[in-house]
Amino acid sequence: MLREKSVLVKQGRVILRRVKLGLWGPEVSEVCFGSLAISPLQGRVSEKEGREILRYAVQKGVNWIDTAEIYDNYAQLKPVLQEYPELKIVTKSYSVTEAELKHSLEKARRELGRDFIDIFLLHEQENHLTLQGHAGAWEELQNAKAKGLVGFIGISTHAVQGVRGGALQPGLDIIHPLLNYKGLGIIDGSLHEMLQALEFASQLGIGLYAMKVFGGGHLTGEPEKALKFIRSIPGVQAMALGMSSTAEVDFNLAVLDGQEISPELRQKIRQRERKLYIADWCQGCGNCVNICPQGALNLSDGQATVKQERCVFCGYCGRVCPHFCLKIV
Ligand code: SF4
Ligand code: SF4
Repeated sequence: MLREKSVLVKQGRVILRRVKLGLWGPEVSEVCFGSLAISPLQGRVSEKEGREILRYAVQKGVNWIDTAEIYDNYAQLKPVLQEYPELKIVTKSYSVTEAELKHSLEKARRELGRDFIDIFLLHEQENHLTLQGHAGAWEELQNAKAKGLVGFIGISTHAVQGVRGGALQPGLDIIHPLLNYKGLGIIDGSLHEMLQALEFASQLGIGLYAMKVFGGGHLTGEPEKALKFIRSIPGVQAMALGMSSTAEVDFNLAVLDGQEISPELRQKIRQRERKLYIADWCQGCGNCVNICPQGALNLSDGQATVKQERCVFCGYCGRVCPHFCLKIV
């Protein structure tokens, strides 16, 4: 419904839609640049290469970037944000208390070189109880918005109950839910239940932009289907796409523009299968098990093991391993 109000912006040969996030949210391009894919957490490209890919996407009309404190890439993004002052930035933090949120917001403002953060989200909220537990951080986020330090506030979530809890959270503007055509990565329900929850949130006027559109890499075999599925969901106005090459930028924007994809471009974006590798010197400390949002890791006989089909290759686990055992290969 809301997407029908979108306008088309032509950049070179590609037309990228502009949409409004929810009833009162900001106007943005239909595609948000998901910067996890160029961050050191995923290690797919160097910091400099990642910036070049981001610049390329911006020149094609992408006008907002999604990051998070955990991606550890504020310094990588800062020069591009300075070159393009009109670019909007979304960040997220796991802050629980008022003081933690204050600290996270100051860090984002300082390290991104922006006095104003366009959208700030509480990262990975699972349900209304998780949100209750983060009441201090939420209150501070509302204060920051009232003071003009933040434009819009909300949550990101991999959970059906996260969307439902978020939709009823006082003052919430935006939800960033996990969504793909197979429902891969939804931690507490089916795709059907997620779609119902999103419809509920959309009816309340909340802005929705999807993440994990390609199921963290499991759905790259049918990328057109993955992109078109998100566009087909009423009320989901936009999507964050992790892109780690200019060919991926070209491909995604061309598909959304309804263009014919050349065999050469299709060949360039063909991805090899990815896996999470766990080194045999794992000490079984359990840090990775505790941080994995997908429940993909377990301890067995004193070592970490992974259910590959659950892993969405976010790279969060690698960051907390004190012995550098985890790598996406
Ligand atoms: S196993 Fe690691 S990379 Fe895979 S989903 Fe869990 S935290 Fe992310
Ligand atoms: S964090 Fe590293 S050492 Fe600890 S269980 Fe996970 S892989 Fe093993």
